Amino acid sequence: DPLLVVEGVVKEYGQAVVSRALDGVDLRIEKGEFAALIGPSGSGKSTLLNIIGLLDRPTRGRVVVDGKDTTGLDEASLTRLRARTLGFVFQFHHLLPMFTALENVMLPAWGDEGFPSSAMKERAVELLGAVGLADRMNFRATALSGGQQQRVAIARALSRRPPLVLADEPTGNLDTESSAEVFALMRRFNRELGTTFLVVTHDPRIAEQCERVIEIVDGRIASDRA
Ligand code: ADP
Ligand code: ADP
Repeated sequence: DPLLVVEGVVKEYGQAVVSRALDGVDLRIEKGEFAALIGPSGSGKSTLLNIIGLLDRPTRGRVVVDGKDTTGLDEASLTRLRARTLGFVFQFHHLLPMFTALENVMLPAWGDEGFPSSAMKERAVELLGAVGLADRMNFRATALSGGQQQRVAIARALSRRPPLVLADEPTGNLDTESSAEVFALMRRFNRELGTTFLVVTHDPRIAEQCERVIEIVDGRIASDRA
């Protein structure tokens, strides 16, 4: 089964004046893929990512995540499904500034049933080691460089072992060297953990290194190169 199925998704904004951000999007992503989502500004990339991320609902169409049809699910069910299946990385890392790197990585699993704090911490330590920040675990987020903060954000996105990670311009705010590092880390987690990635990017150097490039123009998929 595909990890993600998007079928006939339309998203309209506005009441009196309706504008259509997504105009019939169909997409399937298989487990283990590493896909880039590209397209001009305003073409609907963030809208699609938010709908796939179950943060926003389509006007029409359906989204099936990890075999579960999300149509008609209530907020609590969407939150549970999101917690179980999705990790998020943003352009601006959204770390809690006064918390340490370790605390930021542990946070998503906070209060999870069946995820005792010792296991949570062990996992977070392991992930911070994997992103090369073993010696920065107890630094506050504000004491880290932009590239280091984004590496913490990647570790955080993986803390609950989600099958699918959605990344919205994860390197958009980084210099060339940090971008390359952050991208290489995502690739490594894709290879080693089998985590599926869907990455919105404007950076052609990143897109050209992805096996699959999905291009969206005016709310429709204009090309899909596998
Ligand atoms: P991209 O991420 O490719 O830049 P977006 O998904 O942000 O594109 O936007 C797609 C279209 O939907 C744009 O025309 C944008 O102005 C519109 N849009 C996005 N979010 C909203 C919103 N909350 N309300 C109204 N229009 C929106
Ligand atoms: P919980 O409180 O059980 O963690 P949430 O819905 O708050 O459930 O969060 C589930 C996951 O979805 C978290 O990893 C969080 O980072 C992400 N998330 C939730 N809401 C948003 C949002 N508005 N924007 C971005 N990510 C979100």
